[in-house]
Amino acid sequence: MDWGVVGHEWAVQLLQQAVEEGELSHAYLFTGPEGVGKGTLARALASALFCEGYPRPCGACRACRLVAAGHHPDLLWVGPATEKGHISIEQIRELQRILSLTPNLARHRLVVLDRFEQATASAANAFLKTLEEPPDYAVLILLAPEADALLPTIVSRCQIVALRPLPARRVEEALIVRWQVDPDRARLLARLCGGRLGWAVRAATDPAILQRREQRLQELLALTAAPLTDRFRYAAELARDPEETREALDLWLGWWRDVLLVSSGVDEEGAGEFALTNLDRRAQLEQFAARFSPAQAAARIRAIRTALDRLQRNANPLLTLEVLLGFDL
Ligand SMILES: [Zn+2]
Repeated sequence: MDWGVVGHEWAVQLLQQAVEEGELSHAYLFTGPEGVGKGTLARALASALFCEGYPRPCGACRACRLVAAGHHPDLLWVGPATEKGHISIEQIRELQRILSLTPNLARHRLVVLDRFEQATASAANAFLKTLEEPPDYAVLILLAPEADALLPTIVSRCQIVALRPLPARRVEEALIVRWQVDPDRARLLARLCGGRLGWAVRAATDPAILQRREQRLQELLALTAAPLTDRFRYAAELARDPEETREALDLWLGWWRDVLLVSSGVDEEGAGEFALTNLDRRAQLEQFAARFSPAQAAARIRAIRTALDRLQRNANPLLTLEVLLGFDL
C-alpha cells in the first residue's frame, strides 16, 4: 500500500478498500488542522480512483501524472480564491454545471471543496442540493478544520474522516528522507509544526513563515512586561483576525508549556512527551524559567487554554483576548 501519504494509515486503508470494492461514499468530510494532510489525502484518493495502471495508484500512468500536475479533467478543486476569502455561490453553480456533465476520462468525477468552512451561507445551501442528490459518478470531498465549522445538514450527509496531527518523529523523518531537509532544521520544524507536516514542509522552503513566528513570539513575550494599555492595544489589533488570534494563542501556549517544562526541570532531549517545542530558544526559555515558577507557568497555560476554548465556541475574540491579557502577567 503506497499512496505517498505520510501517516494517516487508517484513513488510507479505509479509502483504498472502498476504491477496490467500488464502495466509495458519495461524500466525505476530511477534518483536521491546516497542513495536517487533508488535501494530500484527497489528491491521493483521486490518483487511486483514476489510475489506469496497477497497483493503484501507480504514479506513472497518464491519469496519475495528470492528477499530480493538477490537470486531470475529472478532478475539480474548488476553494476560496485567497486564504481568507470565501467560496461563493457562483463557484458552487459553476461546479454544479460541470458536475452535470459525465466524466471525461475516468468513471468518476471527484470534487474537492477546500476550506469549505469559508463557504458563504448561500453557497453552502446551494451545495446542499448536490449533496442530497449527487450524480452516480460523483465523489465529493469536503475539507474543513472541524465538523463543527459546517452546517449540521451538510455534515450529516458526509462520511467523516478525522485526521489527527502526526507524531513529531514521523514529521522529522519525512522532512529528512523525502524533502532532504537538514537534520537539525528538520528536528526544529517537527517540534514547531504541531503535527502538521504540510506546515513544516512550507516552513522548510519559505523563510517568511519562521520569520513571522519569530516576530509574533517576540511581541507576545514583550507583552509580559508591558503596561495594561499596551496589552489592550495589542489585543484590539490581533482580534481583527480570528485565525491569527488562534495562531498566536497556540504559539503562546507552546511557549508557556516549554517554560513549565524547563522550570520544573523535566524537559528532555528528543521527541518524547516532555520534549521542548521551541528548541531554538533555549536561552530565553531559561530566563523565563528563572522568572516564573512552575505554578505561575501552569496558571498561564490554563488561562490560554480557557481563551482558546472560548474562541472555539465562537466567543468574541476581542473580549476573550482582553480577559487573557488583562491577566496578571
Ligand atoms: Zn496510475
